[in-house]
Amino acid sequence: MSRPDLIERLARAQAERARQSLLRRLRTVAHVDGARIVIDGKPLRNFASNDYLGLAQHPALSERLVRAAAQWGVGAGAAHLLGGHRAEHAELEQKLARWTGREKALLFSTGYMANLGAMQALLGAGDPGSGPGRAVCVQDKLNHASLLDAARLAGAELVRYVHADAASAKRQLATRADAPALVATDGVFSMDGDVAPLAELAALCKTQHATLMVDDAHGFGVLGAEGRGSVGEAQLGSSDVPVLMGTLGKALGVAGAFVAGSAALIDGLVQFARPHIYTTALPPALAAAASAAVDIARFEHWRREKLVRLVAHFRHGARERGIALLDSPTPIQPVVIGASKVALAAMQSLEAQGFFVPAIRPPTVAQGKARLRVVLSARHEESDVEQLLNALARAIGHARTER
Ligand code: PMP
Repeated sequence: MSRPDLIERLARAQAERARQSLLRRLRTVAHVDGARIVIDGKPLRNFASNDYLGLAQHPALSERLVRAAAQWGVGAGAAHLLGGHRAEHAELEQKLARWTGREKALLFSTGYMANLGAMQALLGAGDPGSGPGRAVCVQDKLNHASLLDAARLAGAELVRYVHADAASAKRQLATRADAPALVATDGVFSMDGDVAPLAELAALCKTQHATLMVDDAHGFGVLGAEGRGSVGEAQLGSSDVPVLMGTLGKALGVAGAFVAGSAALIDGLVQFARPHIYTTALPPALAAAASAAVDIARFEHWRREKLVRLVAHFRHGARERGIALLDSPTPIQPVVIGASKVALAAMQSLEAQGFFVPAIRPPTVAQGKARLRVVLSARHEESDVEQLLNALARAIGHARTER
């Protein structure tokens, strides 16, 4: 029989990745103390964590987690609809709804699942095949993988528009004027750090009778008054952005995610979002920790103010040293290098100098756009940023001349 073996095929694909300097390597972190980590026995300053507000190791979160674990034990033991939904989940959902100014919120175990659940419920609700009932999902070219996967899994027609270009989104919508349509965008783009043109997209969706969904994984807690995210910063309410997704594993320092919106949306998700229905509820102790995180993230403004100062310091210092940056106002400050091999060499040079800044390569970013993804956190000090800048300038120089 000539049937190809699947595992051999996988091994061949892996060998090809290695040849192109695209192999991923799993590293084990042995110790974490704020922005300092130990990998392979080596202490490094961590510029890779999405723990933007520095809450992941906050004692108030650990205390709530331990207290809730003492009360509930660890696992929820069942899906939300089958006895897994506890007072801690309900309290967190109410807090998230209040914070985002939406009627209701619904928890998911991860952001990836929240995107799958929301899109599958919204886009899959009609005729899943072709024909007038088939929904179209119009997405920014640089959207997160989970949004793209979600539209594909939902069976929708997936079309993409030029990055951050509402006119391009309009053209895509106009050619499918009769199809039910969801326009979806990252609020803050995870690998570029820039903010989507949300007000323009919201206006477009209104005129085109499309629904707007924003994945604010990287904006929530970081941007806007009280950390209401990119959507809050743009002052867009539930009628402008009817589907708002946020995660609890980044600025909030815990794990999990939520979708917030009208009662009609959330009640529909409870019925139809399979990644909510057919999975064990988030451990209640994590919901309790996230609840504590909401209170701190919302009201400790100094964390966001510090981040703003660190971002300004980094951008100013990069300009002074001739390091080219993208147009990002957020703590995600990528340094685009180009070739994967050079980005990898720059990462290794940074590591040798005591800094952990991962090289992000295709397929996560486009060919020829490999980059060092620098992420700032309220746990950093200006002296950390200054030393990173010096190390970056050296690393880029070394990596380019070694080529
Ligand atoms: N959306 C975006 C924009 C993300 O960056 C991520 C995480 N990398 C996710 C969704 C998925 O969130 P989670 O890690 O909670 O699955």
